[in-house]
Amino acid sequence: MLAPAAQPDLPQSLRGAIWRGVKGECPRCGAARLFAKFLRPVSHCPACHQDWSLHQADDFPPYVSIFLTGHLLAPVMIMIGGSAALSLGAKTAIAMVLAAILMLSFLQPAKGGVIALQWWMGMHGFAPGGKIEALALPKGEPGSPWA
Ligand SMILES: [Zn+2]
Repeated sequence: MLAPAAQPDLPQSLRGAIWRGVKGECPRCGAARLFAKFLRPVSHCPACHQDWSLHQADDFPPYVSIFLTGHLLAPVMIMIGGSAALSLGAKTAIAMVLAAILMLSFLQPAKGGVIALQWWMGMHGFAPGGKIEALALPKGEPGSPWA
């Protein structure tokens, strides 16, 4: 059993929670790392003891990463696609390397953001949600998603 933590510095908005997750910080307190390994979140935050094993990010972080990579890579592909100085093999190699770098760069921030979103909205096992906790809306209160 974990000792009770001091009152954490809760985010005041969904944007704040997601930004903490994108940075790889605990979305609830921002005082500890969210990830134990590249894509594996810690089971419990060492600072605020939030249980992060409840998330179900599944395929959404890769989807976000692919979406961002595609939108950033498209103008580059159009630019180098029109270049006559590069061979088709060189263009393909540049595109594949850039795509791999961007995909891997966005994957962990996307997962952190998705976990923060799920926590804030009280999705899956995150009940009560971060929004309710941060805004001190008890269950059944008007404006509460649990009403
Ligand atoms: Zn925490």
